[in-house]
Amino acid sequence: DVFDTLSDRLSATFKNLRGKGRLSQQDIDDTLREIRRALLEADVSLQAVRPFVAAVRARAEGAEVSKALNPAQQIVKIVNEELVGILGGETRRLRFAKNPPTVIMLAGLQGAGKTTLAGKLARWLKTEGHTPILVAADLQRPNAVTQLQVVGERAGVPVFAPEPGNGVGDPVKVAKDSVDFAKTKMHDVVIVDTAGRLGIDAELMQQAADIRDAVRPDEILFVLDAMIGQNAVETALAFQDGVGFDGVVLTKLDGDARGGAALSVREVTGKPVMFASSGEKLEDFDVFHPERMAGRILDMGDMLSLIEQAEKAFDAREAEDMAIKLARNEFTLDDFLRQMEQLKKLGSMKKLMGMLPGMADVKQQLNEIDDKDVDRIAAIIKSMTPGERDDVKIINGSRRQRIAKGSGTTVQEVNNLIERFLEAKKMMSQMARGGMPGMPGLPGV
Ligand code: GDP
Repeated sequence: DVFDTLSDRLSATFKNLRGKGRLSQQDIDDTLREIRRALLEADVSLQAVRPFVAAVRARAEGAEVSKALNPAQQIVKIVNEELVGILGGETRRLRFAKNPPTVIMLAGLQGAGKTTLAGKLARWLKTEGHTPILVAADLQRPNAVTQLQVVGERAGVPVFAPEPGNGVGDPVKVAKDSVDFAKTKMHDVVIVDTAGRLGIDAELMQQAADIRDAVRPDEILFVLDAMIGQNAVETALAFQDGVGFDGVVLTKLDGDARGGAALSVREVTGKPVMFASSGEKLEDFDVFHPERMAGRILDMGDMLSLIEQAEKAFDAREAEDMAIKLARNEFTLDDFLRQMEQLKKLGSMKKLMGMLPGMADVKQQLNEIDDKDVDRIAAIIKSMTPGERDDVKIINGSRRQRIAKGSGTTVQEVNNLIERFLEAKKMMSQMARGGMPGMPGLPGV
């Protein structure tokens, strides 16, 4: 498909990292240069490449060192997550109007695949239990109405077209009438296919804008041929400016041209890709899933699931280690820091937990930790010597002063941290003794 070359290039880049125990600055630089080149050669616009590479770099060089993964896996994981991000993160679903009909207007250049898409969308909506109609507001091309009628027939969806002699040549009137028609005939979705031109021109934009003003669509979808390469960004911006749109549909993802458009359009327009078309048949159509698309581009399904497994196994091992340490009363400041960092990760789940019954207590605890707090604690602990981290009792007054200075905090804060740590340690060793009856066999207990 349109990502084949990009996928191959990325795989080759990651292959160079395999077997490395740790990544040097040179390794990171080389890898990022290759990724950047691969993206640009795939016709991803510079405007999208720049922030992408910067984000990957920041994470690859940053503190985000996972003990669970080897360096190659870490880079693949980061690239994968950033790809998902640049593709929009989450699937953006169609919004349906509170009072039907929901009006969906399609805009785009001629040949982008609007009419084909209208049929695909109609068929899909039908399978989702809707009762759509198709509207032929493309009266520019002589056979556009006939083409939509053929598509409608294949999709099993009625087509609203101007009666001969009534409204012919006035797509705005047709579009407007179609909405009234849908209301009386109980069609809950109206899909308006508009005219396209081969290039961007003012008259085309004006007509699309007039139709938009007449029917007030709930969703305007910009239909973009993924094979038009570098022109995709320019075209998208022209339509954003001239008509405006809520979401993008990528077509011809089955093609063999370079599909960088797919990766640029979201970043450049700020609008989500909502659907993807990948063939001439009505079934070659799906809701756009950023995660799946990133997976397809990376083409490393095996490696990604390996990464997931490694992380899970690692988390389980960590928890086990921690339980043993607690039971032996060997819980150190390093462990404390690691716990805080795990809680910080959990922070993003705060909202979700608040919605689950019985999770209110956990949520309360999470609320008490804020990210800056964790960063300061990390700074303090990192300013301690290994000996101090193992045994806080040796941290006397002058050591506290040194640690405060080294971490850019105050002695008061260092004192607080040590106190908090000792409390946590006490609480947890009580829990470990009293609260985990399943672990009597632990060594040292
Ligand atoms: P419109 O001018 O925007 O309405 O574009 P059409 O729907 O007429 O499509 C233009 C051409 O592209 C037609 O030959 C379609 O069969 C073809 N087409 C549309 N979508 C796809 C797709 O996803 N993949 C492929 N390979 N061809 C497509």
